[in-house]
Amino acid sequence: MRLPMVKIHSGKIRHNARVLKEQLNRKHIACIGVTKGVLAHPDVVNAFLDAGIDHLADSRIQNVKRIRDWGFTGEVTLLRAPMNAEAAETIAFADNCIISEIHTLEKLETEARKQGKNHGYLVMVDVGDRREGVLPAQVLNFMEAVKDFTNIQFKGLAANVGCFSGVLPTYDHIVVLEELAQTLSESGIDVPVISGGNTSSLVLANRNELPESVNQLRIGEGLLTGSETVTGEIFDNTYQDAFRLKAEIIEIKKKPSMPVGEKGDVLFEGSSTFFDKGDRLRAVLALGRQDVMLNGLIPVEDDIEIEGGSSDHIILDVTTASQRYAVGDEVEFYLSYSAIVTSFTSPYVQKLPILEERSGKKFEGNKTAHSDSNEGG
Ligand SMILES: *Cc1c(COP(=O)(O)O)cnc(C)c1O
Repeated sequence: MRLPMVKIHSGKIRHNARVLKEQLNRKHIACIGVTKGVLAHPDVVNAFLDAGIDHLADSRIQNVKRIRDWGFTGEVTLLRAPMNAEAAETIAFADNCIISEIHTLEKLETEARKQGKNHGYLVMVDVGDRREGVLPAQVLNFMEAVKDFTNIQFKGLAANVGCFSGVLPTYDHIVVLEELAQTLSESGIDVPVISGGNTSSLVLANRNELPESVNQLRIGEGLLTGSETVTGEIFDNTYQDAFRLKAEIIEIKKKPSMPVGEKGDVLFEGSSTFFDKGDRLRAVLALGRQDVMLNGLIPVEDDIEIEGGSSDHIILDVTTASQRYAVGDEVEFYLSYSAIVTSFTSPYVQKLPILEERSGKKFEGNKTAHSDSNEGG
């Protein structure tokens, strides 16, 4: 098998999904499985389904189509508002979408009539993250303007906090949905679904700090990594190592640790400061930023240090490693959610499902708690 390669331990994903779904169901909250982090990879989709998750969601219409290609006929929600050219496929392949513009609903209504189909939608409310969403004060007007559509049905309200600004969701953010639902039902508009956020809202649910009326969460990162990036939360009884990345050493030499010469103005991620540590044994991997986000890699062997990297290479300091590495040896990494997303997006990285579970050591997940929050959900 060619390297680099991500190994998918689907049994661990299934376990995570089962544990988190059951936790949410006990609180009368439905768990939607979000597949965008792995481009709706069929083994991950299957792991979600085996865990009893019966409603899937993705932000990309291409992934929604992939979910259909794998044969899933249950409910699928498109998480990101469709662009003009995506309206037809949205109606054809998704059951619901989350929107924040009347323009989008007009497109979807026209298309739904054309295809003779019904389609549901949730209105995204911007409760403070300042990514997408109708402002709370404008939701009632918004609903007035769209009440005459026939083929698209209002299903409820959604919020998303913790992906863009790094703001953490609190009870006060999410309770805005509950208040709006109250206002809408007083004007005769039924609000069956209150979709209270992503994995960062799962952290709130576990602390019993989610408003009672929330009956749906959309979970991606939590199911895949058993953790949440922005809070650094590790979920009880879950695996953090369902994904591992393997890469090959293509050079190993003892070299001075200091670069020679003047530094340019442009600072590169992960390689901006160097300390003179004298001569070090350094390994160069055939793995780079075109394959994976560097700061989401955690070496499985903790006596290896990542010095930095470029598009095609990663430099490791293996001076104090107990293993004697040679050219051609493989090095393994645990992956943060951002590293999972980027490696699945890279065509250079092979994806290998691992079916049987070997009982390896359980990864101390708090190593993943670094702040690459903008790469989150
Ligand atoms: C990505 C996404 C999610 C899932 O986020 P996680 O943090 O991975 O759980 C939920 N809702 C929306 C709108 C998203 O785009």
